[in-house]
Amino acid sequence: MSVELISVLGATGSIGRSTLDVLARHPERYRVFALSGYSRLAELEQLCLQYRPQFAVVADEAAAAVLRDGLRAAGLATEVLVGEQGLCDVAAHADVDVVMAAIVGAAGLLPTLAAVRAGKKVLLANKEALVMSGALFMQAVRDSGAQLLPIDSEHNAIFQCLPMDFADGLEQVGVRRILLTASGGPFRELPLERLATVTPEQACAHPNWSMGRKISVDSASMMNKGLELIEACWLFDARPEQVEVVIHPQSVIHSLVDYVDGSVLAQLGNPDMRTPIAHALAWPERVASGVAPLDLFRVGRLDFQEPDLERFACLRLARQAAEAGGSAAALLNAANEVAVEAFLHRRIGFTQIAQLNESVLNSLPATPVESLEAVLAADRSAREAAQQWLARHSG
Ligand code: NAD
Ligand code: MG
Repeated sequence: MSVELISVLGATGSIGRSTLDVLARHPERYRVFALSGYSRLAELEQLCLQYRPQFAVVADEAAAAVLRDGLRAAGLATEVLVGEQGLCDVAAHADVDVVMAAIVGAAGLLPTLAAVRAGKKVLLANKEALVMSGALFMQAVRDSGAQLLPIDSEHNAIFQCLPMDFADGLEQVGVRRILLTASGGPFRELPLERLATVTPEQACAHPNWSMGRKISVDSASMMNKGLELIEACWLFDARPEQVEVVIHPQSVIHSLVDYVDGSVLAQLGNPDMRTPIAHALAWPERVASGVAPLDLFRVGRLDFQEPDLERFACLRLARQAAEAGGSAAALLNAANEVAVEAFLHRRIGFTQIAQLNESVLNSLPATPVESLEAVLAADRSAREAAQQWLARHSG
């Protein structure tokens, strides 16, 4: 078997590091071709020394100069590229077989699309890219013949519970519903009146998963599950009403598929992203991921609850956006990125995230999305509206 070359976009993040951990277990199968990082330059340099990629991509020329010096001093021939163009170049490079799309937020859209358009095997962690540009993104996958494999643990679980030919339509393969599980995050049982005063530290202390700060806050508000509902609709060609969200606090069942004959298939495992990463990397084969075997005796029990849409208003907004279609999801995603950033900087309280999102979603019209320019315009207008909301409401 020939060695596959991999570009890891967002290598310094939580998913990026888990990816590198899995890759390092299989040097005979995988080699790192490119690594990207945005703010943690010293960490990126360390990763370059360890994985010796052909390319590294950083945010700007100043960062590139620092990294070039460091790598040259260590005798490394890694070429350092800059910015969005650099990311798109290593995503679409002719030598690359696999792209891990693990940049957080809308910043990942163009590089992920570049990988898709180049027909790569694309491991999609960057759900925001798909949420923003859904129809265009999926059309680009069909046009280029790219292979899109979900890394989000829920979507990876659903993918594993579907037959190979699900792309012909869920009804065709006898699927009735998708059951998307959610942990409910750190505030599932917090008295509602205390929700307004929770801190970023509390929001980022997820009970089961260790993740980047943005997705941690999204998990606490359940906007993450809302984005995942939209993501599932695009990945599996499902209607919003075919996707039901189920709170499952143990995070052992990663999602389920309900078939017309009453069979319900689930994928289980320890909450460790190396499982979906290893699955997607090797698919349709299987490789070791380093994740410990699931100990059901220690798990003991599996609980399920219906989500409370008053507590988790962001989930309600995401369903609204999924049903509205067009640019609604891009508007909501952009508003939410601004809101989460403001919450992390203590400019607004936790419950104001949903208030800001609702205000932006309801004040801007959802328009048909026929071009990438239309997606980017929706993203910009929502960010502007969100900034105006912040100017009126934040301290
Ligand atoms: P993270 O914050 O730990 O890492 C984000 C990465 O993106 C870093 O490498 C950072 O340098 C890079 N980055 C940030 N802003 C950038 C910008 N403007 N331009 C270029 N690069 C930039 O985030 P994460 O938890 O690894 O999540 C990454 C993506 O994977 C997100 O879309 C998230 O929703 C998704 N995801 C994460 C998990 C998880 O367990 N962490 C699970 C499912 C899905
Ligand atoms: Mg997930």
